Amino acid sequence: MSVIDEVKQKLDIVEVVGQYATVTKAGRNFRALCPFHNEKRPSFFVYPEQQSWHCFGACNTGGDIFSFIMKKENMDFGEALRFLAQKAGVTITSRFEPGASTDKKEKIFQLNQTAALYFHDMLLNSPAGGKTRDYLTSRGLSLETIINFQLGYSLNSWEALKQYLTERGYSEDELLEAGLILATEEGKTRDRFRNRLIFPIKDNREHVIGFGARVLDESLPKYLNSPQTPVFDKSGSLYGINLAAAAIRQQNMAVIVEGYMDGITAHQNGFNNVVASMGTSVTEKQVNTLKRLTKNIVLALDADAAGEEAMLRGVGYENTLGAEVRVIVLPRDKDPDDVIREDVETWQQLLDGALPVVDYTFDMVISSLDLNTARDKSLATDRLLPVIIGMNDIVRQAHYLQKLARLVKVSERDLEVVLKKTRTNQDGRWKKPDQPPGQKTTPTIQRPFLPSRLEEDCLALLLQYPELKDKSGALLPEYFQNSENREIFTAWQQSGDLSSLESKLDTAVHPQLDHLINKNIHATPGNMDKRHDDYIRRLKLRFLRDLEVKREERFALEVELGGSGADLTRLEEEGIEASIQLREVFTQKLNKGSNKGDKKWN
Ligand SMILES: [Zn+2]
Repeated sequence: MSVIDEVKQKLDIVEVVGQYATVTKAGRNFRALCPFHNEKRPSFFVYPEQQSWHCFGACNTGGDIFSFIMKKENMDFGEALRFLAQKAGVTITSRFEPGASTDKKEKIFQLNQTAALYFHDMLLNSPAGGKTRDYLTSRGLSLETIINFQLGYSLNSWEALKQYLTERGYSEDELLEAGLILATEEGKTRDRFRNRLIFPIKDNREHVIGFGARVLDESLPKYLNSPQTPVFDKSGSLYGINLAAAAIRQQNMAVIVEGYMDGITAHQNGFNNVVASMGTSVTEKQVNTLKRLTKNIVLALDADAAGEEAMLRGVGYENTLGAEVRVIVLPRDKDPDDVIREDVETWQQLLDGALPVVDYTFDMVISSLDLNTARDKSLATDRLLPVIIGMNDIVRQAHYLQKLARLVKVSERDLEVVLKKTRTNQDGRWKKPDQPPGQKTTPTIQRPFLPSRLEEDCLALLLQYPELKDKSGALLPEYFQNSENREIFTAWQQSGDLSSLESKLDTAVHPQLDHLINKNIHATPGNMDKRHDDYIRRLKLRFLRDLEVKREERFALEVELGGSGADLTRLEEEGIEASIQLREVFTQKLNKGSNKGDKKWN
């Protein structure tokens, strides 16, 4: 859950508004004298169910908790977020701190890019890079692949990169922060990577976020990576995602291998939906990154890594992240690089035979047991039942319960009894894989968090098809109820391209921006115009209908409270005006005849 979602969940808009105005209950909602303009009769309403507010008076506007604080405290989105996060007791991690500003990140991207080009040049053109070139050739890599992955070589020197970059105006502090040099005990600095093959690690927007480096001799460590920096978090990054994203989306499947060379060899052989985890265990963050592109994930595990723990994590990802995880286990002592280079067919067969992670877990547990003995039957039940309990999907749960019953030759009904008992003990909850046991979570207001699909799809379309920009005049910021989306939309209106858009936005909104840029909305150049018009019309309809409902509620309330005749007439007129607008949008829809039977307003 993002910080923004967490803040929304923990704070109640009625309480927040209550800090600035006296709110009184009015039916299922609340009303107050507008805190933004002077008035005698309250025309400011708070809607707890929607967690929104609206002023029907001079302001004639509304929004959510963030826009309320932005307006009231005169803050931008990021400031309002930090302000509210503090009230909610939500910790904002360092990457959201002002310290890691967009400017700073941009600087590190530039620095890394310059370094990557330098390493690349050393590999291709320097005499010292000859041995590394030979090594890559011996591993079967083509020049095209070397260029696509921008592979590089760091000279056998403690100073070469530092010198190159400082001559180009970068300071040692900047180099340190990017992790390209490190401080020695004598208070000096030196290059981090020396005499190594360099793998620049990029994000899906082609920013160089860090580096991996491999030795070519026997020295240790064999692999070295950039440290954690404001732009690099190894546990959340996937090597090759910049080259794989399109294929992953297209094939609706991602394959995760472990090593850099595994990923590169896969791509060279046409398996373009492959990314590398750069470590033995795949993390929740990595799966989450991929989930924006596909929900079908295949883990290619080497025989040693495919332990029970890895499997349980895989099952956990299915439940917590809603991804479908399948597993292929490589022949002993071989990695994907070997398998693919030996025979592409074998690799394809492995992929085709990938087993759902739960089935694989069953196989693995069962293979070590003798199910003819009572002891092993109960061991199998002990290990597999928790996996079944953890499933969110009851159909799958029933399927695997049947499977377990068959394997241990116990009736399903008996297993269900055990299952129910265990479930009561466990409170029916599956622990998140990365959550330490016994960790206490602070109580939250239980409110379903529903991201608006319509808003997101519309924004994703605009971001992915910049040519639509000229046609989007009819779209208004107030059509976006979600502040993050509204923020992104407003910044998009004011910016020329994606990178300037990103620099306009607070870093806290970047995850949502990433999500939208990568969101698969099944749009094509052929249907994008129709989609675009349709989204705008539906957003407008939703906006107007929502307003109409609010007006009607308010009208009923005024009648109940014995409002003056003039007030009521004015409200009625406003209502009529709104219905006319609404009817116009409806008519527009009928004329176009699009989306027959479309009942989804949201
Ligand atoms: Zn007002």
